[in-house]
Order: sequence, then C-alpha cells, then structure tokens
Amino acid sequence: MISLDGKRAIVTGGGAGIGRATAQVLAELGARVVIADIDTDGGERTAKDTGGIFVRCDVSRREDCEAVAHTAQERFGGVDVLFNNAGVIRRSTVCEITEDDWDLVMAVNIRSVMLMSRLVIPGMAARGGGSIINTGSGWGIRGGGRAVSYCASKGAVVNMTRAMAIDHGPDNIRVNCVCPGDTATGMLAEEARQLGESSDAFYADAADRPLGRIGQPRDIAQTVAFLASDASAFLSGAVIPVDGAGTA
Ligand code: ADP
Repeated sequence: MISLDGKRAIVTGGGAGIGRATAQVLAELGARVVIADIDTDGGERTAKDTGGIFVRCDVSRREDCEAVAHTAQERFGGVDVLFNNAGVIRRSTVCEITEDDWDLVMAVNIRSVMLMSRLVIPGMAARGGGSIINTGSGWGIRGGGRAVSYCASKGAVVNMTRAMAIDHGPDNIRVNCVCPGDTATGMLAEEARQLGESSDAFYADAADRPLGRIGQPRDIAQTVAFLASDASAFLSGAVIPVDGAGTA
C-alpha cells in the first residue's frame, strides 16, 4: 500500500478531470494538496472535497504560478510533489490553426511546466529531493490527426521530462511523465465539440482497444500517486503510457 503521509503537493488543473481525480487520490493517501486552476468553481470544489487549498491560477502566467508556489510554502512549508497537469487542446491542422490558438496551447501545455517547475526545484533540492510528474499524452509519443499544436506541445512535455530528470537527478528530484490515452474528462467532450462530432464516437471506438474501454480519471491518478510516492524511488525520466495498451 502506497502512503503519501507528510507529502505536500501542488496539482495544476486540479479543478476537473485528471487533476481533480489526482488531488483526491493524493489526499486519500495522506498528502496535503494545493489545487491550482483557472476555473474558480472547479478548483474550489476540489479543495473542499480534499481538504486542500485552492489558488486561482493561469499556469501560463509567471505571477500566477508564483502565487501557487508561495501559498504552498506559506501553508505547508514546502513542496514534495508537483503535478504539472493543466492543459488545453485545439483540434486543427497546421493550415487551420490560428496563431493565437497555437500560442495558447504552447503556453498552457509546455511553458507552464517551465514556469512551475523552477519555482519548486530549489526548495526540493534544499530539502533532499522531490517528485515532479508531467501530464504528457499518447499524442506526445505518436501523432494524431487534426491536433497539431497539442501533439507538438505534448511531444515537448515528453522530452522535457527526460531533460529535467537528467538535470535534477543529482538533487534526488525525480521527473516522470504519464501519457494518458482518451480519458473520460471534459477535454474529450471539448474535442468532440471542436470536431463537430458526438463524444459517443470516442467511447464506441474504445471497444476495439486492448482493454476494451477508455480511461477514467482515477486510472491516471493512481499512476501519478505511485510516481509521487517513495515506492517509485528509482523511477525517473520515464514516459509511462496509461492508456490500456492504446499506444502499444
Ligand atoms: P483533462 O483532465 O483530460 O486534462 P479537463 O479539461 O477536464 O481535461 O481538465 C483540464 C483542467 O485544466 C481544467 O480544470 C481546466 O480549467 C484547467 N486549465 C485549463 N487551462 C488552464 C490554465 N491556463 N491555467 C490553469 N488551469 C487551466
């Protein structure tokens, strides 16, 4: 049984979906959690359910990220676990995407990993280590149709994970990446909306997959909890598909 007793965590995008489920699992296993999200209602709901602290934050803005790290420092005295998870998707080809949408996806999905991580790494190093987990995607490992900015950003998350693991391993900071496949969250519904399709199609396609279903947020959350815990002490620089063999 994994324990996160005494661990202090930040979960970005904790107001919904994978982030929300992860905040819940981390709290169930004993961690204290700061929930950062641009969505106040969702973030406050997760904070209430987990006994955590909500900080409204646009992860693409340095000042907002600083407020999150500051809150964790003030209230918990430091951060042991950072889950860089907030994300957005735009379903378009390179010919269709607007420059503004390109910049948004890059800012929220990858710039944020740089902004948040460097706010917590010095403290983790000073206290003897920590665990950073990034949300990649199956589309950070292989490509997908009409999702060019998302694929580019998640490919960057995957390889940034490896680069960070190399840089900060000597400080006992582990950096890993979970790569969900289709998961039953608001993002899936948003994709269906952007493509003008019904989200039922995503669920129907899943019947052909090895485990016969799409992911649930808790499927991803359990893996994140393992990566956050000391049970994964020698796991770093790993890119882990959590997709029922979807990328296999
Ligand atoms: P998934 O869990 O599959 O990534 P969701 O859309 O359910 O999909 O969750 C993404 C979360 O990220 C939402 O709570 C959303 O509000 C949050 N989010 C999106 N953009 C930002 C941002 N710029 N800053 C902080 N949180 C964000």
